[in-house]
Amino acid sequence: MGKTVIALQPARGALAPPAAAARAQGAALPVDTRGRTLRDLRISVTDRCNFRCTYCMPKDVFGDDHAFLPHAEILTFEEIVRIARIFHALGTEKIRLTGGEPLLRRGIETLVAMLREAVPGVDLTLTTNGSALKARARALREAGLDRITVSLDSLDDTTFRAMNDVDFPVARVLEAIDAAEAAGLAPVKVNMVVKRGVNDHQVVDMARHFRGSGRIVRFIEFMDVGSTNGWRMDDVIPSAEIVRRISAHFPLVPLEPQYGGEVAQRWRYADGAGEIGVISSVTRAFCSSCTRARLSTDGQLYTCLFAQQGYDLKRMLRDGSADERIEGAIAAIWEARADRYSEIRTAATAKERKVEMSFIGG
Ligand code: SAM
Repeated sequence: MGKTVIALQPARGALAPPAAAARAQGAALPVDTRGRTLRDLRISVTDRCNFRCTYCMPKDVFGDDHAFLPHAEILTFEEIVRIARIFHALGTEKIRLTGGEPLLRRGIETLVAMLREAVPGVDLTLTTNGSALKARARALREAGLDRITVSLDSLDDTTFRAMNDVDFPVARVLEAIDAAEAAGLAPVKVNMVVKRGVNDHQVVDMARHFRGSGRIVRFIEFMDVGSTNGWRMDDVIPSAEIVRRISAHFPLVPLEPQYGGEVAQRWRYADGAGEIGVISSVTRAFCSSCTRARLSTDGQLYTCLFAQQGYDLKRMLRDGSADERIEGAIAAIWEARADRYSEIRTAATAKERKVEMSFIGG
């Protein structure tokens, strides 16, 4: 994975007490050096995936001999819940379970139920490739999941099978989306990563298919996450072009963000057939409003999707540190945060060794 992890030194103690004690006395929630709060947490529950999407986990890197994390390194459900509770105390309102493929984590419904009970007010969502969702959507909903995002890069079966590189058919993902909706996990969002010359010919078809269905397609610019997907700027279709292409067939009108820090720019169809989102991390960076922290499968905290370094929270979870100390450490990390990778991206930074998306959580 090539990740570097900054080991926190809880024994030094300097990070913990002031922030936690101040908050216990009603002090403000942590804000980073650019005024951003800690509103969202993405938790990667497994680094494994059954797809080998060419832009995310290419087979030549993530082959049969790839060493995924050993069981002992992966956070337990109890550890994840404890961390979630601490983040909630620090202002986190939204938690997304992701991976790897989160439905590969055995008993994920149990984790959802545990989170629901521990942090009842949090908006609890999950991102999945949909391959195992059809049979499990109802159980996830009953466990307390609020909403779901399903990734689907093409409606054209040949294109989709080539992109997931495990010959998985479109039809089964569409069935999973139906099942999620029937289970009450609505509105379902559908993520499409757009890569020039690979699936960009499918953008308008995707819009046409989902218009009027209540499902919200989010067109995502191909990003230089990790260092194994061979990213080149030439492969990126700018969101503005995506909006132009769709608008030529189905006119779009911009919508106001629903809240500060919203990742997708939202557009509605002028004829009332619903909305789409575009996620423009490359051509229109949204670092200035990024309120997201990420917890990797093995308990490292990352404050940017494009980070090269994480902070070892697992060690604190396992060395007897009290919640207040962990809370103080997270607050201190957040208050020192200055990340703005997408604003300063160049061809050179794109080649830097960054943590893989399957590990840090998409
Ligand atoms: N396995 C789940 C899935 O397929 O949705 C969750 C993990 S996946 C890493 C989360 C999201 O990240 C997916 O929608 C995926 O398409 C997107 N993604 C992965 N690599 C990407 C890249 N290089 N650029 C843009 N989006 C990417």
